[in-house]
Amino acid sequence: MKKHIVLKTPVPGPRSMELLEARRAAVPRGVSNITPIAVARGEGAIIEDVDGNRLIDFAGGIGVLNAGHAPPAVVRAVQQQAEKYLHTCFSVALNEPYVRLAEAMNRITPGAFAKKTFFVNSGAEAVENAVKIARSHTRRAGIICFEDAFHGRTLLGMSLTSKTSPYKDHFGPYAPDIHRMPYAYCYRCPWGKKFPGCNIECGHFLTDFFKRYVEPDTVAALLIEPILGEGGFVVPPPEYYPILTKICRDHGILVIADEVQTGFGRTGRMWASEHYAIEPDILVTAKSLAAGLPIASITGRAEIMDAPMEGSIGGTFGGNPVAAAAALAVIEQFEKHNLPERARKVGEKVRARFEGLWKKCPAVGNVRGAGAMQAIEFVRDRTTKEPAKDLVRDIVRLCYERGLVVLSAGTYGNVIRTLMPLVITDEQLEEGLDVLEGAVLEAAQAHMPAPAETPLPVPAVGPALGPVTGEAKHAT
Ligand code: PLP
Repeated sequence: MKKHIVLKTPVPGPRSMELLEARRAAVPRGVSNITPIAVARGEGAIIEDVDGNRLIDFAGGIGVLNAGHAPPAVVRAVQQQAEKYLHTCFSVALNEPYVRLAEAMNRITPGAFAKKTFFVNSGAEAVENAVKIARSHTRRAGIICFEDAFHGRTLLGMSLTSKTSPYKDHFGPYAPDIHRMPYAYCYRCPWGKKFPGCNIECGHFLTDFFKRYVEPDTVAALLIEPILGEGGFVVPPPEYYPILTKICRDHGILVIADEVQTGFGRTGRMWASEHYAIEPDILVTAKSLAAGLPIASITGRAEIMDAPMEGSIGGTFGGNPVAAAAALAVIEQFEKHNLPERARKVGEKVRARFEGLWKKCPAVGNVRGAGAMQAIEFVRDRTTKEPAKDLVRDIVRLCYERGLVVLSAGTYGNVIRTLMPLVITDEQLEEGLDVLEGAVLEAAQAHMPAPAETPLPVPAVGPALGPVTGEAKHAT
């Protein structure tokens, strides 16, 4: 019995379809729509569409709503700030929410050293600025990034991003001085090894990389997503980053952590870097920072952040006071309600259901994740691991037709990922998981009728995170 999902019309309903038609005429096709749902209001983990249907949200506006849709305390903070003033441009006149938020970010990010923070408008812009600052500090140009990485859609963001279509579709030429390494993608290990017992060759490969591809003294920074986001929620083994960061330190190379998707409690810690005891020289985040208002942050060691000369970084809207006030209220919600802990609990329930699905459904190739950032990678065959993209497309469609919004991911588009608001109730979570499970089983049956006895080869699940090799310290 569905309690939270209420469907008054088929999804999409007539009013959603009307808006979709208008959108087709007014908005270019390049800006795509994953679902055909038009939203009327949102609350917690529930979306109500313009036809009066109520859906459970496992997408959170692509990981933006960890604190929920329209958290009342955040809405109040926005209203209060909007009544005072909407904009100053930080370069023209200071605004207090900006400065207070910078202090808060310096406090809550990993590393017990002096830090500084500034703000821009999007994740891509934050990554660009982290690169600019790393180059300014080191006086080197090279950036090492990873296969299957996603860092945004600006020219530099796209150049740092791995997946070609659609993100790099005839948009070149791309930015130079970018060098790409294989990632610790255990399910599809580039070295054909199995974890454990692989000696983390993917990490030690960085030393070889410096011999074959780029000289270390020309490299400003290693840019990591501690856990891949768009690339399919790939979780490296615990030993991976300690190896990489040690090699970087030996060569004076900075470590930039892109926590745009992994940040703000998603993985069961405030930052995914904490699972690996990484203290990044620069950490960028965006998405769930302000519960939907556009703001992104760049936080780093004070001496690094002060490298660019006065007037060389910033922008018109960066650190807008309304967005900054929202972010301060979000941080308060995180601290008051311990949302990272809630992410762990949500993640345990999701993980148990996904592992159950792995036992029942041969199309489930791999289950992995950390905290509430969980994923299933679907394959047409568990031995060949041929990606099952069409199956995932059908699962996403079946889900929204039945009242659950869920997203795919992965270079091959064959991963289902969970980005539900962390304030989701247990009942809503179970109801959403019921819909997802039903859709997976039904779509898998249609795509690849299973033989009566299906062998279940290992490994079923990705490497477990923890125990971590150490604890990242925080400034007090
Ligand atoms: N970096 C990561 C890890 C992301 O997941 C994203 C967006 O999905 C970005 C950067 C780009 O952020 P934005 O879309 O706000 O520019």
